[in-house]
Amino acid sequence: TPADVGLDWRHGFAALGPDFFTELRPAPLPRPHWVGTSPDVARLIGLDASWLQSDAALQAFTGNTLLAGSRPLASVYGGHQFGVWAGQLGDGRAILLGETAGGMEIQLKGAGRTPYSRMGDGRAVLRSSIREFLCSEAMHGLGIPTTRALCLSGSPAPVHREEPETAAVLTRVAPSFLRFGHFEHFAANGLHAQLQALADYTVDRYYPECRAAAERDVPPCAALLRAVSERTARLMAQWQAVGFCHGVMNTDNMSILGLSIDYGPFQFLDAFVPGHICNHSDAQGRYAYDRQPDVAYWNLLCLAQALLPLIGDPDLAMQALASYQATFSDEFMARMRAKLGLLEPRAEDAQLIDAILLLLARNAVDYPIFWRRLSHAVQRGDFQPVRDLFADGASLDPWLRSYAQRMACADPAPAANLMLASNPKYVLRKHLGEQAIRTAKQGDFSELQTLQRLLGRPFDEHPGYDAYAAFPPDWASAIEISCSS
Ligand code: AMP
Ligand code: MG
Ligand code: MG
Repeated sequence: TPADVGLDWRHGFAALGPDFFTELRPAPLPRPHWVGTSPDVARLIGLDASWLQSDAALQAFTGNTLLAGSRPLASVYGGHQFGVWAGQLGDGRAILLGETAGGMEIQLKGAGRTPYSRMGDGRAVLRSSIREFLCSEAMHGLGIPTTRALCLSGSPAPVHREEPETAAVLTRVAPSFLRFGHFEHFAANGLHAQLQALADYTVDRYYPECRAAAERDVPPCAALLRAVSERTARLMAQWQAVGFCHGVMNTDNMSILGLSIDYGPFQFLDAFVPGHICNHSDAQGRYAYDRQPDVAYWNLLCLAQALLPLIGDPDLAMQALASYQATFSDEFMARMRAKLGLLEPRAEDAQLIDAILLLLARNAVDYPIFWRRLSHAVQRGDFQPVRDLFADGASLDPWLRSYAQRMACADPAPAANLMLASNPKYVLRKHLGEQAIRTAKQGDFSELQTLQRLLGRPFDEHPGYDAYAAFPPDWASAIEISCSS
């Protein structure tokens, strides 16, 4: 029997028709239990937060019963994986329940096999689902665009990866789960009518300002490419500034809305190592931290290629892409100025920023701790705790002198406040996620809840929780995160 929670539905994507998806039902899982829920996301989609605690909700969001009015489907997409066209992919383990009247799509990840599962089992393991649950909410707490996580359930059903694990279903929420790969799929197969319908849908629903661009002689699809380029550039600037490494930036993992999506082997940097590779399967370092902005541009080139039949003129497509670099630079500079507490821009800022990043890299300084200590140093006027982060504290002094000159003003409070709101105290370091996973596997979800609370408000002090803002323990460097999830 369907669970009726009074959600109203709209089903915009489903209206595109069967060329875009396969309708199917989630495959049930035995004896589900809650692992985590997010009342904030429940409110966001107009779902009663207390209902979300119920057994009816648990069954519905594990895929064992259908929500009344939902219309489950798996969508088809393609993608470039590690630089190579991979052909048809699609939702291999994600099932879209539909779109609410409020315009939010609800998707179950790990809900069973679909026609796009290829060799996969359609499942997700508890370990990686906890990482995605926490990271979605951490990103949101940091103010970085992301898909959200409504809830996470687990089941004793075995799932085989490198070792035996158990199944989990993550319920994700976003205005749209469309990826660059959706467009690539229709372009690669010469399905131009469908490509046009998908682009029209995307413009009408998510980028209506691109329709208006047509009045200025810019085709809506060129305006769309420009808008996606700009959103992607801003996202990359935010990832780089916070020290986030995604790990699998294939074009099928690039959101058309510029959201962070598909959290797999991601990592927040501990030590600032620009060439850091967080995906154990990425031997070449294609998706290393410092390559992300360039990779995103490469991915946008793939999107441009896919949209070219609709744009017509390659010059128009290249002009649309050209906004990427400038937007990235402006946004990255703005983010780094905020981290440094620089209230108004000046020409010499780029030099100051480059210089500190170079020093952090040379000394492999802990990235989040450096910025948080610098914020407190400005607040209190004592820079010794910052110097202590460098093997040779004196090597920092010339930079500190330039910084002090640049900051020179009567009252440090406005700068310090900006810094404390820009440099998080709490980030989802790899070892913190690992601790929550280890305890969750024993049936104890208190660590996960603690992290959810801290990461939801990462700029707050949360007295008594300093251990969660400390350096990583020695065992952290031994954790290997592969693509297997
Ligand atoms: P990813 O790079 O993890 O985002 O996944 C790439 C493609 O593989 C997507 O089309 C996924 O739906 C699919 N996929 C990943 N894991 C599984 C799985 N366990 N079962 C079915 N499909 C999967
Ligand atoms: Mg993916
Ligand atoms: Mg995935």
